[in-house]
Amino acid sequence: MADVSVTFLGSGDAFGSGGRFQTCILVECPTTRFLMDCGASSLVAMKKQGVSPATIGTILVTHIHGDHFAGIPFFILDAQFSRREAPLIIAGPPGIEARVRDTLEVLFPKSSEIAQRFPITYVELVPSTPSQIGSVCVTAEPVVHFCGAPAYSLRVECAGRTIAYSGDTEWTDALIKVAAGADLFICEAYFFEKKIRFHLDYRSLVKKKASLNCKRMVLTHMSDDMLGRLPQIETEWAEDGETITL
Ligand SMILES: [Zn+2]
Ligand SMILES: [Zn+2]
Repeated sequence: MADVSVTFLGSGDAFGSGGRFQTCILVECPTTRFLMDCGASSLVAMKKQGVSPATIGTILVTHIHGDHFAGIPFFILDAQFSRREAPLIIAGPPGIEARVRDTLEVLFPKSSEIAQRFPITYVELVPSTPSQIGSVCVTAEPVVHFCGAPAYSLRVECAGRTIAYSGDTEWTDALIKVAAGADLFICEAYFFEKKIRFHLDYRSLVKKKASLNCKRMVLTHMSDDMLGRLPQIETEWAEDGETITL
């Protein structure tokens, strides 16, 4: 099988903890390249790490919080000015299209009236139902995270590999389903042991680790609290710019 690579363009939380970019994960398969989440800082992260936005055909979104989707308006506007012609697919929870359009218009008034050279297709992911998006099969599972719309974890199958991603959530058994048999499970570990509603802490995750039947787990979305405790962590964690080959 040809390699699939996963690059953490952004491995941070919403608030730039540790100087990290907000969530943005690049997946490169032989047939396609796509992003999982596109936080507000993601266009900067892409350009800093030499990833051309023009090569990205699909953006998958776990939930509609600014640190997970608010890079999309910048991505779209940059693509317009760069004369992109390749189609773009944006797939996420119900309401994704309206939120992207509204945010674009708030940040850059009248920008939605600019003629676009490239088509954007919005796909609303239906819980627990596989969606075939080009050569990628995406299954969304609802998680426990409040953002004014459903929040998902994602299970993505591409080129014979399975990548699971928690998105933001407090512990839920949905993560067992998402991570089952995955080659890579990317999981939020926001705090070390402090329990925060709608988020996952490292200690809680460790208690559940035996139930996660994944081949490899990498932690992400870490706060200053978590980053300060890294010497005590016995699980792999992500760094901005790091690439994992599957
Ligand atoms: Zn969130
Ligand atoms: Zn977040």
